[in-house]
Amino acid sequence: MSNPILLINPWINDFSAYDFWMKPLGLLHMASCLRKNGLDVQLIDCLESGPLDGISPGAVKRPARKAGGHGKLIREKIARPAALAGIQKPYHRYGLPRHILKMILKEMEKPRLVLVTSMMTYWYPGVFDIISLVKDILPGVPVILGGVYATLCPDHARRSGADHVLSGRGEGHIPFIMKDILGEPVRYIPDEHALDHLPYPAFELLPVPEQIPLLTSRGCPFRCPYCASRQLYDSYDRRDPIQVVNELSHWQDSLGVRNFSFYDDALLSDPQQMAIRLITLPSKRRPPICKKPAMEQMRSASISSAACQVKERRKYGKAYFTSVPGEPDRFSPSIHPYPERCYGTRPAVHLPIPWQKNRCITTIPFFPVQAPL
Ligand code: SF4
Repeated sequence: MSNPILLINPWINDFSAYDFWMKPLGLLHMASCLRKNGLDVQLIDCLESGPLDGISPGAVKRPARKAGGHGKLIREKIARPAALAGIQKPYHRYGLPRHILKMILKEMEKPRLVLVTSMMTYWYPGVFDIISLVKDILPGVPVILGGVYATLCPDHARRSGADHVLSGRGEGHIPFIMKDILGEPVRYIPDEHALDHLPYPAFELLPVPEQIPLLTSRGCPFRCPYCASRQLYDSYDRRDPIQVVNELSHWQDSLGVRNFSFYDDALLSDPQQMAIRLITLPSKRRPPICKKPAMEQMRSASISSAACQVKERRKYGKAYFTSVPGEPDRFSPSIHPYPERCYGTRPAVHLPIPWQKNRCITTIPFFPVQAPL
């Protein structure tokens, strides 16, 4: 097999960062599409907190993950960029220490091509650093930059030193990558809108996927004027919830993953078509569900905890529901009030829950789920 394609999820350079279920989902989709075209792929996820092949455990101290798969990132203090010099706060590079990344790049088989992804636009300094390092250590290897920043700010991204800046959904660029950059025949062209027909993301490339995000849609049916969703996705493509549950079962069986998050700009829009079905669909891991109050349905769907935003009269807060050991039909709620109203613009589904009186309404903006073993 010829030299591999290297995929890199770059550092985050920022005053603060925390891994709230971050995974480079677009890059992992690209990995699967490139594999279906007969290519060998390797991944360096600079934000990965699990053990890495080829690195001794003592080489880098990684913060422990929380039980749900989220947690702190490794960080190194670095100088603030000139534009932020006036802000008197420590500035960090979050992710693998620079010397470790250099060691990995030097020791690995020289790749044919490097794909770098990007997230928040203001995290571009970490992207620029990575591309500069790759160009130093792997001269002559073409570098492609894609992802959110490259889509929203392509002109700015061209200053990164990447040979190609590709905007939009990565799958749409597979023919260009295969034919024009690699000079290879195109064996597989994914339909970037048919999310249920895309190959599953290559999560097996990650050392320890403590949690796996499930893509349930791309784009958003709404058009909030301040939002970049329409710039990222010009259409709204949604998956069949049955296929989402099938994917969840696949990762449970193949990698033993128990924690899942949903990547979706509007998971709770039209809830009867997606959110409600996701937590009520029977699967081989879940008993069929009768008509029950929402919390009992969650219990039956083997969801053991949920975090919800709560509005009660004029008070807002956050509620946590945790299953009660030995009492399969009960969730124990606890409420942590917020001092002021702060959730007026979030999309939400309003569900009555059993312990509430009519005066109460609960909104559920997201719910990380923990699936059974
Ligand atoms: S609902 Fe959210 S994702 Fe959709 S357009 Fe509005 S702000 Fe953007």
